This record gives sequence, structure tokens and C-alpha cells, in this order.
Amino acid sequence: MNTEELYERACRSLVGGVDSPVRAWKFVGGIPVFMDIGNGAYLRDTEERVYRDYVGSWGPMILGHSDPDVVRAISEAASRSSSFGAPCVAEVELAELIKGKFSSIERLRFVNSGTEAAMTAIRLARGFTGRDKIIKFAGNYHGHSDSLLAAAGSGALTFGTPGSPGVTAAAAADTIVVPYNSAESVESVFNSYGAGIAAVIVEPWAGNMGLVPPLPGFLESLRKLTKDFGAVLIFDEIITGFRVPEFGVQNIVNIRPDLTCLGKIIGGGLPVGAVGGRADIMDMLSPVGPVYQAGTLAGNPVAMAAGITTLGKLSQTAYQKLEYSAARLGAGLKQAAVSAGLDISVSRFGSALGLFFSSRLPLNLESVQATRADLYPRFFHGMLARGDYFAPSAFEVIFVSLAHTGDVIDATVANAREVFAEIASSLK
Ligand SMILES: *Cc1c(COP(=O)(O)O)cnc(C)c1O
Repeated sequence: MNTEELYERACRSLVGGVDSPVRAWKFVGGIPVFMDIGNGAYLRDTEERVYRDYVGSWGPMILGHSDPDVVRAISEAASRSSSFGAPCVAEVELAELIKGKFSSIERLRFVNSGTEAAMTAIRLARGFTGRDKIIKFAGNYHGHSDSLLAAAGSGALTFGTPGSPGVTAAAAADTIVVPYNSAESVESVFNSYGAGIAAVIVEPWAGNMGLVPPLPGFLESLRKLTKDFGAVLIFDEIITGFRVPEFGVQNIVNIRPDLTCLGKIIGGGLPVGAVGGRADIMDMLSPVGPVYQAGTLAGNPVAMAAGITTLGKLSQTAYQKLEYSAARLGAGLKQAAVSAGLDISVSRFGSALGLFFSSRLPLNLESVQATRADLYPRFFHGMLARGDYFAPSAFEVIFVSLAHTGDVIDATVANAREVFAEIASSLK
């Protein structure tokens, strides 16, 4: 099926032809390809072009596409019904699996998306503390619920302005937006408004402005400040959870957040999110407590089966393979750029990588915006033409799966060498 025709047809019935904006390729230009089949590290589009996939459905496909065990688990679960709307064993099993990896999670609740997980975490924090205001970081993304779609205005720290039409000024005003990696900003907000702050929500490695690591001490400061002022610390580990052999950032830095948001990998490619944490906070949720939250399809048996099977396959050996491939890709991309005389920097958290067109890694949204992200569309299209599918935006993460063997990575690096050389020569 021809891509142009399909896209035109899609645009007649779907808004912008897509169900999630970044898929429309506005950042990189051109017409999005329609994917048809995924197998391991590869995707095939409707025109039968094959790509090495570095999007991984934005993170969930850590085993690669159509993993036979996941496919079997989904099909077995579906044969016993695709939804009960009543308790099922699989949700208990997945909850136990997650609890076993995150000691900060004493109780959890499954929802259908990361957006719902973060929205619920905020509601819980407000219900628990009886306070309204939250602190979030510019460039961190926690889904599209109103209070988390506040944007930073000008100035080092601001009350949020609505990040989208339709978000009321009142919803945004309770969100205080501060620069990522600036513990001083958070401290000064607490000093001014401490008694009114319900929560600090943070991506402990930021994965929605490219991949930006936390500065040493930053997360520790957040833990201390929230503790001192009686606010809830929320780690949004929707990208970082299950990306590393330690399972999440919190286990690496040894910090216990009060609440954790999970998503993506825990659903194995089906729609699942979760919020979990301290029992005294989680037990504020209905039906134990007064904070309301519900979901017709939450804890869905098919989605739970995909999650259980995916997590079950993430052994320490699996993580060793992932680390090896991702490190090989990171080093290869860096090397390819160096030999082309192009300045890039690469960040890596387990099998997730960030690529920036700048000589130094950025540490917040402002410095991300100062990189040469304008070069990214050329990288994207150059790689795509050679059979490598990267995210259609400079501010997304590169994901490597278990199916990305050394050969797959090496083919991509060889292509990157050509593409970086083209970009470099066009800059002369
Ligand atoms: C993807 C993502 C979300 C939102 O998850 P959805 O399932 O897309 O709603 C929230 N937080 C982070 C850090 C994410 O990367």
C-alpha cells in the first residue's frame, strides 16, 4: 500500500492522520511511513521496506517485536477472555513481580497508560497532604493530564502557564515549573511555598528532551527537601523502569521515592501503566481510602500476560546483552561523528540512548534547546533511507532491544558514518 495514499486517507478520518502527534513527522518533515510487521529488531512498512527499529514503540518493545513467548502469552490469555472487569490472577502476579524489583513499592495500582499513572500519583499526593501545589521540571514529560501540561514561562522558576489551549490557568497555576537539575531552584520554591506543596514529580533520568542524566546530588536534594517539607516525592520511571539491570534509577542511586510511576515495558507492548509506593499513601486510593480512581480495562488479563512474560524474560543475562548492544551503539555513533568531524554527545541509561548535536551533554531544557537539533531531520532521513528507523524528533530517546545483536548495531553504525559525513560536508 502506497504511503502517500495511506496518509491522505488517514488524514481524512484521523486528526493529522495519527493518534499521537509525534508520529506525524512534523519535526523531521515528510510523510510518515505506515508500519505493517515487526519482527525482532526489524520493522517492515506497507511498501515492504525493512528498517532496523530504534524507536521500540517508544520503549515497551525491549524484547524486540513479536517475541514468540509474548505472542503466545497474549493469545493464551485472550482465549480465556480479553477482559473480565473483575479481579484476575494475572494482575496479582504482575504486581508481585514489580514489587519484587522495587522495594519502594509496597502497593500499586494498574492503569492503562503512563498519563493515568502520573495523573493518579498527583491526585494521591494532593489527597494525602491536603495541599494543592506541585513542582515539575521544564522538559520533563509526565503525560498529558491538565496539571502536568503546564509550561515554564520565562525566568528561572515560574508558576506554570497553560502548556496547551484547554488547560485552565487555574490548573496550571498550581504547577510550579523549575529547571531540571537545579536543586537550588527547588529549594527556593520550598522556602517560599513549602507549606503548600503536595509533591515534586521528576523523571530521575529525563527522557523526553533527549536523554539527560541527573547531576550528582540532584535527586538526593529532592529527597531531602520533600522529606523536610512533608511533600511527596514522585519518580516517574515510565521510561527508566526495567531499562537497567537494577530495574530503575531509584535502585541505582539508592533513593526511595514515596511514589513511582511505571508504564511502557511493564505492559510488554500493550496499554499498561502503574502507580505504586508507600502503603500509607497508596491506601488513600478508593476503595480503601477517599481518593477516587478507576478503570474499566485496568489490570486487563491480556495486557497483564504480556507484561508478566516480558518482565520474566528480563534476566540479568538479558540485561548484559542489552548493555553490550547499547554501549556498542553509543560508542559507534560517537566514533562515526568524530571521524566525520561532527560534534555530538551521547548519553546512555542501560539500553536507552540520547543523541545531541553538541559537544557537551545538555543538563536542562535550555541547554537542550541550544544544541543543533536543526541537524536532526537530516540525520533522521539519511538513516531512514539506509534502513534505520530512529524517532522522528530530536527530543526522543533511542531504544535498543534484546533483538539488536552486534551485527544489527554495526550495520546502523556504518550507515551513521555516511550520514554524519554528509551532514558535516554540508556544514562546510
Ligand atoms: C511515555 C511517558 C509518559 C506517558 O505515558 P503514556 O502511556 O504515553 O500516557 C509519562 N511519563 C514519561 C516519563 C514517559 O516517557
